[in-house]
Amino acid sequence: MLAEITSVLGIAKAAIDIGKEAKGLLPDGEDKSNIEAKLIQTEKELAIAEAATAKELGYELCKCTFPPQIMLFIKELNVSRCPKCHHTTSKKGHVSYG
Ligand SMILES: [Zn+2]
Repeated sequence: MLAEITSVLGIAKAAIDIGKEAKGLLPDGEDKSNIEAKLIQTEKELAIAEAATAKELGYELCKCTFPPQIMLFIKELNVSRCPKCHHTTSKKGHVSYG
């Protein structure tokens, strides 16, 4: 099930990228603004879905932004680190700064 969700998320991301490229071809105006707003909203919803999936997969989430950042594991340090604010989580679950 998770594999399917991850695959759908990838397809959705590709669709958003296509939308962004298509938007770039439009002349400035109301249509472009509407499409831009929809793309931003869709991207946000996708990020929420991505974060939820990451949590299901056992990833730590950083709450420095919403949607949350997905913390990536750093093998050498045995911690997860937020790509945005660089907070780290030790294996005890303690959050440290810097
Ligand atoms: Zn963070």
